[in-house]
Amino acid sequence: MKKVSTLPIKYKLVLWSSLLLFILFVLYNILQYSVLNSWMLTEENNVIEQKMKETKAYYHERSKSIPLTEQDIYSSGDYIERLSGNHQMIRILNSKGNTLISASQDVPDEIIPAKIVQTEEFDQIKTSENRFLILRSPLLLNNGTGTIEIIQSMEIFDGLLNKFIIVMLLAGLGSIALSGFGGVIIAKQLLKSVKNILHTMKKIQKTGLHERVPSNGIKDEITEIGELFNETMDKLEESFLQQKQFVADASHELRTPIAIIRGNLSMLRRWGKNDPKLLEESLESTLEEAKYLSDLVSELLELSRAESEKQKEQIEWINPIPVIENALRNFKILHKDFEFIMDMKNIEGSLIAFQPRHLEQILVILLDNAVKYSKEQKWIKCSIQKKENFVQIEIEDKGIGIPKQDIPMVLNRFYRVDKARSRKQGGYGLGLAIANRLMEKYNGSIIIESEVNKGTTVILKLVSD
Ligand code: ADP
Repeated sequence: MKKVSTLPIKYKLVLWSSLLLFILFVLYNILQYSVLNSWMLTEENNVIEQKMKETKAYYHERSKSIPLTEQDIYSSGDYIERLSGNHQMIRILNSKGNTLISASQDVPDEIIPAKIVQTEEFDQIKTSENRFLILRSPLLLNNGTGTIEIIQSMEIFDGLLNKFIIVMLLAGLGSIALSGFGGVIIAKQLLKSVKNILHTMKKIQKTGLHERVPSNGIKDEITEIGELFNETMDKLEESFLQQKQFVADASHELRTPIAIIRGNLSMLRRWGKNDPKLLEESLESTLEEAKYLSDLVSELLELSRAESEKQKEQIEWINPIPVIENALRNFKILHKDFEFIMDMKNIEGSLIAFQPRHLEQILVILLDNAVKYSKEQKWIKCSIQKKENFVQIEIEDKGIGIPKQDIPMVLNRFYRVDKARSRKQGGYGLGLAIANRLMEKYNGSIIIESEVNKGTTVILKLVSD
């Protein structure tokens, strides 16, 4: 036989619910049986007590002050006959225990042993077929104390109880069968969603990440697990695809400079040894590409750090002004032909939750872009302003601008508006992606506003106190 713990959950649910119902049913029936039994017994006792009272009252009336004789008892036969009810016997014994009269309806006289009593007492006897309830009470006769016996057959009472037990048993068995059947249906319904999840997981294992748990329109905890599972799979698939895209983009970017280096080197091997001019040019170009490669790799590392680095460090509330001033000062030294303007509005005392080195990294990326993509008008403005619960930093230039359709894309990795020109200017399309990742880490955001040939404004919103 299978162990319960190894049974499928469907059968376990049914088994336990049926078992619980069975125990409840047995306890309830025992209680009901004992209540009914004691109630009916009390009723029967009351009936024969009442009968005893009537019999005694009758003899009391007959005797007045003189004690009754056995003759009086014999002559009361008719009355006693009328008094005895269905399934009852009234028997009067003399002081020696001999029957004087006996009136019986369906109760055989010989089954009940005669017994003399001195005080009123209840008794019960059981034969193979029946039970009898007996009430005995003393009766004063002229030659001693006789006994009145009222005997009640319990046949009807027992028959009723037996019927009750059969009905309860049938009803109980029926309800257990019904609950088992209902349990199977409920368990099947419940486990359908779990089976769906299981099925989907197996499919994912076999065919890949794109499988999802189908929705069955029901709203319960198990379908919620399915939905959560789907959401997790969506995120996993997205990050998997991003990862794939990243590798594809990175290798694509690395392929061009490597191809140039290889081309230069094979040209050198063939003709460069004897041609000093070609040698010089090829070496120059190779060095340039090698530098491009090494810069690209360090930017890639920077991006991967910005993407994976968890915000482990304690949140530090810093004053952004010194960091901004420092970045602008450095740019002024590097680009003497540019005019840098700093504009502050109600910023005093405002703090932002940011690592200074990350803020500086973002500012360098934005200022560098502003310089790179400016033409004749070499003007860059940096505004800082405190708004509700954030500090807004804007870097504005009057450069070439970004076409409207490209604005949503420039935050993506390796996205460059003008690929050829940008590469010449040393851009890899990674700067804004790094800045965006860093801003996300601090729950901040980047907004880009731009118009071709008018200029670009990059707006940073940083969480503030
Ligand atoms: P890159 O290193 O190529 O500058 P970024 O991620 O910093 O990479 O920028 C992505 C692209 O967005 C750039 O190639 C450029 O076309 C455009 N861009 C970014 N900043 C500016 C700006 N201030 N003015 C005009 N174009 C910009």
